[in-house]
Amino acid sequence: MKNPTIPNRLMLEEDMIPKQWYNIRADMKKKPAPIVMPQTGKPATQQDLEPVFCKELVKQELNNTDAFIDIPEEVYAYFKTFRPSPVVRAYRLEKALGTPAKIYYKFEGNNTSGSHKLNSAIAQAYYAKAQGLKGLTTETGAGQWGTALAMACAHFDLECHVYMVKASFEQKPYRREVMRTYGAQVTPSPSMTTSIGKAILEKHPGTGGSLGCAISEAVETAISNEGYRYSLGSVLNQVVLHQSIIGLESKAVMDAYDIVPDIIVGCAGGGSNLAGLIAPFVGETLRGERDYRLIAVEPASCPSMTRGEYRYDYSDTGNICPMVKMYTLGSHFIPSPDHAGGLRYHGMNPILSELYQDGILEARSYLQSEVFKAGQTFARVEGLLPAPESSHAILGAMAEALHCKETGEAKTILFGLTGTGYFDMKAYQKYNDGDIVDFVPSDEAIRQSLDRLPKIDL
Ligand SMILES: *Cc1c(COP(=O)(O)O)cnc(C)c1O
Repeated sequence: MKNPTIPNRLMLEEDMIPKQWYNIRADMKKKPAPIVMPQTGKPATQQDLEPVFCKELVKQELNNTDAFIDIPEEVYAYFKTFRPSPVVRAYRLEKALGTPAKIYYKFEGNNTSGSHKLNSAIAQAYYAKAQGLKGLTTETGAGQWGTALAMACAHFDLECHVYMVKASFEQKPYRREVMRTYGAQVTPSPSMTTSIGKAILEKHPGTGGSLGCAISEAVETAISNEGYRYSLGSVLNQVVLHQSIIGLESKAVMDAYDIVPDIIVGCAGGGSNLAGLIAPFVGETLRGERDYRLIAVEPASCPSMTRGEYRYDYSDTGNICPMVKMYTLGSHFIPSPDHAGGLRYHGMNPILSELYQDGILEARSYLQSEVFKAGQTFARVEGLLPAPESSHAILGAMAEALHCKETGEAKTILFGLTGTGYFDMKAYQKYNDGDIVDFVPSDEAIRQSLDRLPKIDL
């Protein structure tokens, strides 16, 4: 279906939605380092991980060899209720910037959860149901992942217990109500329902909580309740696998119109949307077929790649989850209250960490005031109200487009617009009132956190 006129929105036909996920690791010569059990200091095995995660997801987590993995029929059927998502040409943004660059964005906010997270939630809930489990536990920071998992569990008739970072629980009552509407039980974290929660509350009474702490509580609840497993919305390689649908769809539809991106930009929290977006493109690079410029954008308040170190770290505050070799600020690092809640994680997915280490991926960070300004510009010219997380990618793409304006190059830029900003109106209110504060951690604060990292290397 080669078509010379390029529409505003590039849409795949429904039957063109990819039927398999793509596993970047299969094409990596240097594989990401194995995840390690904190109890043994040894690489995690299928048996180690099965009490925590669903069987099939553990297989995916440890699978470094299969390039393509079938998307189960039930997951595919659900995908069709909100996919394919559009690739949109940002004509008005190009005009506003006066750039010769061609800007495209892949919009993942077109479902009730409001973000790309439903792509992995539906897969994880499916495997839990297929295994005959009763329910899943998880954590949520800003609320997007908890909402996505609540929707997915409702679809497959599973129980869903969400530990929500207390600060968000209080600030975002409507997020909480969406989750409860889908049947999820939502508990503010830290809570008195787990031993880890109790210990943290004893040490830090009145704390607003953190993602690392909520993860520990969710894992403890999963392993101490029959028929439950734990589910994580980012960071893990299985999540990156599920999110490859974003890049596969983008590539399929751009191929159909003979469009090749020169630069691909995404925001990076735990790294899943970015890794998913770049997946089939970076596959070409790893196989020596074509090079792309790939750019990760993170908040200056939580700069895991740009200011962290590449080493083994705990993925949670309670140190019960597997340890991951990744770019990290240290699991003790508590990022300042940036409004891009989905990007406030101390580490980064191991595949992206390795690609960054190998010079295949670039990274940069921005202040939240400039991020909100970019989000506002985008909202005004393109009409879509972006999530603050997504606005990091918008600013990254705008910076590249403005660079093209200087050099006169008509590069093609693709960026990931991961979600909508409707649940972030408190943050937008602060921005509109001129009350956004930029936080940048000191070298000393990062050093102190990194000094507390476990000293292992394999
Ligand atoms: C969670 C989230 C992110 C960041 O998560 P990644 O795993 O890094 O993709 C980005 N944007 C939105 C809207 C989110 O909800």
